[in-house]
Amino acid sequence: MSIDYPQFRKLEGAPNLYIIEGPKHVTEWQPMGDSKWVVHQHYASDYPRYQWVSELLQGDDPVRFLNVDTWKRLLNERSVASADEIPGRTPYPTNQGLWRDNAPVGALTTFGAEARASCIFEVKSDADVRWALQDRDELPLMVLGGGSNVLMCQDWAGRMLHMNILGIQKVTDDGNAVEVVVGAGESWHAWVMHALECGWNGLENLALIPGSVGASPMQNIGAYGVEVKDRFAWLEAIHRDTGALERFEPKRCAFGYRDSVFKQSEKEKWVIVRVAFSLERTAPLNTQYGVIQSELQSRGWDRGTTHRQVAEVVMAIRQSKLPDPREIGNAGSFFKNPVVSKEVLARIQRNHPEVVYYPAPDGGVKLAAGWLIDRAGWKGHQRGACGVHDQQALVLVNYGGATGAEIWALAHEIMEDIVDKYGVQLVPEVNQVGL
Ligand SMILES: Cc1cc2nc3c(=O)[nH]c(=O)nc-3n(C[C@H](O)[C@H](O)[C@H](O)COP(=O)(O)OP(=O)(O)OC[C@H]3O[C@@H](n4cnc5c(N)ncnc54)[C@H](O)[C@@H]3O)c2cc1C
Repeated sequence: MSIDYPQFRKLEGAPNLYIIEGPKHVTEWQPMGDSKWVVHQHYASDYPRYQWVSELLQGDDPVRFLNVDTWKRLLNERSVASADEIPGRTPYPTNQGLWRDNAPVGALTTFGAEARASCIFEVKSDADVRWALQDRDELPLMVLGGGSNVLMCQDWAGRMLHMNILGIQKVTDDGNAVEVVVGAGESWHAWVMHALECGWNGLENLALIPGSVGASPMQNIGAYGVEVKDRFAWLEAIHRDTGALERFEPKRCAFGYRDSVFKQSEKEKWVIVRVAFSLERTAPLNTQYGVIQSELQSRGWDRGTTHRQVAEVVMAIRQSKLPDPREIGNAGSFFKNPVVSKEVLARIQRNHPEVVYYPAPDGGVKLAAGWLIDRAGWKGHQRGACGVHDQQALVLVNYGGATGAEIWALAHEIMEDIVDKYGVQLVPEVNQVGL
């Protein structure tokens, strides 16, 4: 039997209200004092909780079915407690009226290329997402997180859904391993630092990557030998056409190098609303990268290193190597490192024996795209208001006032040049909007 989510319920003889968001997720409004609610998120991570969600769904005594209007009327009889007391969401739906037409959106991206969206919605809950997904003149829809991996090549003639679902909740803890659910709108770096504060380790090598938690599985973000897939437990996403909430376990995400099912067969079909991570207090340290080891040594931290120290070192390395988007517009690495066969490598080595490469899974090799671009003479190249960073050939930059179309034209020219010089096709890591 197929079930349309969300489903609305209340307890007979008690004021508690429930939204069943999906088969494994319930939001509960519990009364506090005479006039307020406290909102709780429940994730069915074990059998008793799964059973409880099924009972709510079936409406077993003392549960009562409600339609959305009755549910809202009952909700409005009280106000919501302060935001601090609301883990994960705000009341249903929060954003009616919280949308703007013909909105400038360049400043919401780290490239800072000016562009407008026909309308933009800020979403703070699953209900907001569903509300924003309703047909509005059937305009196309895009999701924006922290805007650190998009290039607005032109105005977006459609709806833009700006993700702002917050909340961090530990759902299981066996004394060492924890599972923690994080709202898609949380800042990635703030979440990593919060996890370290709590002693939940395993994400330290991914400190200081810009962007939101919800975007992290999209391209399986990675740095210094760790990828998000290494600590990913599951995510929940709302289908753009049906509004159904579904859970994606690791296998269904088909993670690869800067890749996942959300960039392939499920592209532009889902809005990721929260991500769960499996972390450990005793997570093994991942310090095999030479640059991490030497930085640890130079600080005298190479013996008895802590997870927090690894994060500090990663942050220092990143700050010394990558341009800060607050100072100069960019989206980090513009291109992926191309994976090629050993035969292609051998052909390139005939003319360029010093080409930089690393072993890749499946017997191939990963070429350093930055090296190819640097040796092709592009590093430091400036064209009008955009160019290639003078320290990092993989990073295209907006010195101020460049349009997305100008930056994309430069990227395109670099890609053609790399094909001419090395016979290798570069693939952008950054998502182009409006092409
Ligand atoms: C200085 C700098 C350094 C960087 N370093 C790294 C690095 O080391 N490793 C790395 O992997 N990346 C790196 N990046 C790239 C970027 O930070 C990541 O890709 C990040 O995950 C993007 O998050 P975001 O929220 O900004 O996504 P956005 O740029 O807002 O969106 C990226 C894509 O994901 C989609 N999307 C976003 N949120 C959702 C959602 N909730 N549901 C569905 N779709 C969604 C968007 O539609 C878009 O297609 C760097 C970027 C910068 C600027």
